[in-house]
Amino acid sequence: MKTNKELTLVAGGAGFIGSHLCRFLLDRGEQVVCLDNLQTSREANILSLEGESGFEFVEADIVDPLPASILRHAGRFTRIYNLACAASPELYQADPEHTMLTNVLGTDRLLRLAEQSGARFLLTSTSEVYGDPEMHPQRESYRGNVSCTGPRACYDEGKRAAEALTFDFLRTSRVDVRVARIFNTYGPQMRLDDGRVISNLICQALSGEPLTIYGDGTQTRSFCYVGDTVRGLWRLMESDLPEPQPINIGNPQELTINELVETLREMAGRPIEVCHRPLPTDDPRRRRPDITLAHELLGWKPTTPLREGLRTTLTWFGSELQRNRVSPLA
Ligand code: UDP
Repeated sequence: MKTNKELTLVAGGAGFIGSHLCRFLLDRGEQVVCLDNLQTSREANILSLEGESGFEFVEADIVDPLPASILRHAGRFTRIYNLACAASPELYQADPEHTMLTNVLGTDRLLRLAEQSGARFLLTSTSEVYGDPEMHPQRESYRGNVSCTGPRACYDEGKRAAEALTFDFLRTSRVDVRVARIFNTYGPQMRLDDGRVISNLICQALSGEPLTIYGDGTQTRSFCYVGDTVRGLWRLMESDLPEPQPINIGNPQELTINELVETLREMAGRPIEVCHRPLPTDDPRRRRPDITLAHELLGWKPTTPLREGLRTTLTWFGSELQRNRVSPLA
C-alpha cells in the first residue's frame, strides 16, 4: 500500500463480520489495513481482498504490543474499528483468559493507537452485555444481568470492561468513540465449526444430520443478516450522535430456537430429525434488540428478511462443505 491516502484500520478484519466490513469499505474507495491473529477467523475470508491495491493484511494479536507494520501507519489512520475477539460461546470459552485480555488489553492498545493517530474509534460490543436480560426487548439504557463468575463472563465482562475503557478515553477527551452492541448475526463466511446455532443447524441440515436443539428450544434470539450489520456499523462510525452512547445493532424479529429449526426444515423441503442437548450454563432465555436509537439517530434498520438471509447463507455453506469434501490431491 503506497499512497498517502487516509487509512481505516479493521482489527478482526479476517473474521466473519470484519471481512464483510473490509469489503464494504474497499468498495467505498477506502484504504483498509486489516489486523487479525487468525485465531478464530479464516484467511479464506480475505483472499479476494488481498489482491486489491487499497488493502493490506497484518497478522498480529492485539493482546501483544502492536507490530511495527501497524505503528508505521499511525499518523494516517482516521478510523479504527475494533472487531477483534472470538465471538461464538464455544470458541471464546476455549481460552477465556485470552478472550478477556483481547477485550481489555487489546482495546486499550487500539484506543492508544487511535489517540496517537487522531482517529475515531468504534468498539463492537455485544448484546451479551445485557446477560440474561430482565428487560425485554433490550434498550441501551438497560444495565444488564450478567454473571461475573460464569463461563460467559470472559466475553460478557470483557466487553463491559472494553465499553468502560472506551468511554473513559472519551471522557478524558483522548479519543472520539462509538460503541455498537451487536446482536446475533449470521451470513456467509461464518466458520463452519463455529458452534453457533445458525452455523450448526445449517451444516447439520446440509449433511443430513439431526438438528441439535439445546434445552427445550423455547429460548429466543433475534438474527440479523451480516450485510445489514455492516451497514449499521458504518453508519454509526460516520454519524455524529447528540450524546455519546452505545447503540444496538440487530434485527428485532425475535424467534424461538424451535421456530428457527422449523424454518430451516421448511426451507430444506424434506424431513430432518431433531435431537436435544443440555442447555449450556447461563444461556440467556430471551434476546431482542430495541433499535429505536439506531433508527432515529443513524437512520438505520435491517432490511434483509430472515428467509432471504438464510437462503444466501445456506447456498454459501453448501458450496463450502462441497469444497471441503474435495481432496486437494483429487
Ligand atoms: N443452540 C442450539 N443448538 C446449537 C447451538 C446453539 O439450540 O446447535 C442455542 C443456544 O443454546 C442458544 C441459542 O441457540 O440458546 C443461540 O446460541 P449461539 O451459540 O448461536 O449464540 P448466543 O446467542 O448464545 O451467544
